[in-house]
Amino acid sequence: MSDKYDYDLIAIGAGSGGLSVAERAAAYGMKCAVVESGKMGGTCVNVGCVPKKIMWFGANLAHAMSDAKDYGFDIDNKGFDWGHLVKKRENYISGINNWYHNYLADSNVDELVGFASFVDEHTVDIDGKQFTANHIMVSPGTTPSVPDIKGAELGITSDGFFELTERPKRVAIIGSGYIAVELAGVLNALGSEVCMYLRKEHLLRSFDAMLRETLLEEMLDQGVNIMPSTQIKEIVKEEDGTLSLCDDKGNKNTGYDQLIWAIGRHPNTQGMNLDAVNLQIDEQGYIVTDIYQKTNIDNIFALGDVTGRAPLTPVAIAAGRRLADRLYNNQTDRHLDYKLIATVVFSHPPIGTVGLTEGEARKEHGSAVKIYQTRFTAMYNSMTSHEVPTAMKLVCIGAQEKVVGCHIIGPGSDEMLQGFAVAMRMGATKKDFDDTVAIHPTSSEELVTMR
Ligand code: FAD
Ligand code: NDP
Repeated sequence: MSDKYDYDLIAIGAGSGGLSVAERAAAYGMKCAVVESGKMGGTCVNVGCVPKKIMWFGANLAHAMSDAKDYGFDIDNKGFDWGHLVKKRENYISGINNWYHNYLADSNVDELVGFASFVDEHTVDIDGKQFTANHIMVSPGTTPSVPDIKGAELGITSDGFFELTERPKRVAIIGSGYIAVELAGVLNALGSEVCMYLRKEHLLRSFDAMLRETLLEEMLDQGVNIMPSTQIKEIVKEEDGTLSLCDDKGNKNTGYDQLIWAIGRHPNTQGMNLDAVNLQIDEQGYIVTDIYQKTNIDNIFALGDVTGRAPLTPVAIAAGRRLADRLYNNQTDRHLDYKLIATVVFSHPPIGTVGLTEGEARKEHGSAVKIYQTRFTAMYNSMTSHEVPTAMKLVCIGAQEKVVGCHIIGPGSDEMLQGFAVAMRMGATKKDFDDTVAIHPTSSEELVTMR
C-alpha cells in the first residue's frame, strides 16, 4: 500500500469492469475504491443482460405455451401481466444491488458514491471531494444513442424499455443490432405488434449470413414486420397520442404507441474532465488503450464498453481481472486476448457465434476455407405446428481444417456454444470435432457429426 495516496486503485464505475478489477486487486491486498454515480452493477445488472434475460425467459414461456397444446396439454394462454413480471424482475435486481453493497464491504473495497471527474493524473473529484490513487481505472460504460432528428425525444431507448410498466400495443423499433433484435423478439412473443426499421438491408449485418438470413426468415414467420433499407427522418405525435414515423421514401408510418431507438451506444466520458490529464480518446469518444488496458497516461487504465472493443459483460470482467493480476500479482504479461470471443444473441431462437464468419474467412484465407453446414428441425419441434429452424456452420481452414468459426442458430444455441468456444481456443480441428463421440439425442451432436 502506497503512503503517498488515499488508495492503490480507484475504479470509476461500479459496472462489470470496475467491480471486477477492484475486487481482484483487493484480494491481492491493495487498498481499493469503486466510484458509482448510479446503481451498483452498472448496465448489465440494471438495464442490460439481467432484465433482458428475464424478459427473454418470459418470452420463451409464451412460445412454450403454444407448443404445449401440440404436446397434448389442454392449455390456453389467457393473458400476460406485464406489470407482474416487471415488478418481480426489479425486486430481483434490487437484491443484486444490495448484495453488491455487502460484497464490496466484505471484500474490503470502499464504495464512493457520486460522479467522478479528473483533477490530475492521481486525483479524482467526486461531487466536490477529492481522492487520490496510485492507479486510476476508468470504466464508465456507454449510453444508448438517439439520432439528431425532429421528434426523436418522443421515442425511448432500451433504458426506457425496462421502465415500461405496461405492454405496449404497437411498437416501432429502429435499429438492426443486438438490442433491436432481442427487444423485438421479446415484445412480439409477449403480444405486442412489432415493426423493425433497418436503415440498411440486413439484421445483424456483421454476423455470418446463415445466421442473419435464418433469423430474418423466422422473425417474419413469427409475425414481426421488418422494413429494410428505411431511414426514419422525423417522428410526429398525432392528436390521438400515437406516433407516426416519416421515412426517407416519403411514407408516414402511423399508429405506434411506443418507439424504441436501438441504434447503438456512445461512451460515457462527458463531464469527466479528461482534458485535465490529456487522456486520449478516438474520434467516436472511446478511450484508447493498448493490449494491457493502459491509456496514454502511465498510471491510468480503461476497460469495458468505454474502450469500444467487444462491448460484452464477460469481456469487461476478464479484462479487469487480468489487469489486477498484472498490476498487483506480478503476472507481467497478463492481458485479455480479444480474439475468439463467443457471443450469444438472445433472439427467438437464440444465436451463438464465435470466430470468423464465412465471408471474413474467405477474404482472409481464400481457397483454404472449407465450410461444413447443416439445417434441420430439432426433435422438439417435430411435435409442434410451428417449426423453428436450426442451422449450424463450421468454418475451417487449411489442410488440417482448423475450426476458426462456429455459428449456430436454433433452440439451445445459447447454452451450446461455450464448450465449443473452449475447443476452438485450444486450436481444435474438424477431426477433433469428428473424433468426439456425440451426445444423443441433442441438437449439438450435429456439430460433431457434420460431413
Ligand atoms: P457499465 O456496466 O455500463 O458500468 C459503468 C458504470 O459507471 C455505470 O454504473 C455508470 O453509472 C457509472 N459511471 C459512469 N460515469 C461515471 C462517473 N463519471 N463517475 C461515477 N460513475 C460513473 N452483455 C453481455 O455479455 N450479455 C448480454 O446478454 C448483454 N445484454 C445487454 C442488453 C442490453 C439492453 C444492454 C444495453 C447491454 C447488454 N450487454 C450484454 C452489454 C453489457 O451490459 C456491457 O458490456 C457491460 O455492462 C459493460 O460493463 P462496463 O463496466 O464497461 O460498463
Ligand atoms: P449494435 O452495435 O449491436 O447495433 C446497432 C446497429 O444499429 C448498428 O450496427 C447499425 O446497423 C444500426 N444503426 C446505427 N445507427 C443507426 C441509425 N441512425 N438509424 C438506424 N440504424 C442505425 O448496438 P446495440 O445498441 O444493439 O447494442 C450495443 C452493444 O451491447 C452490442 O454491440 C453488444 O456488444 C452489447 N449487447 C450484447 C447483448 C448480448 O450479448 N446478447 C445484448 C445487447 C447488447 P447498420 O449499420 O446495419 O444499419
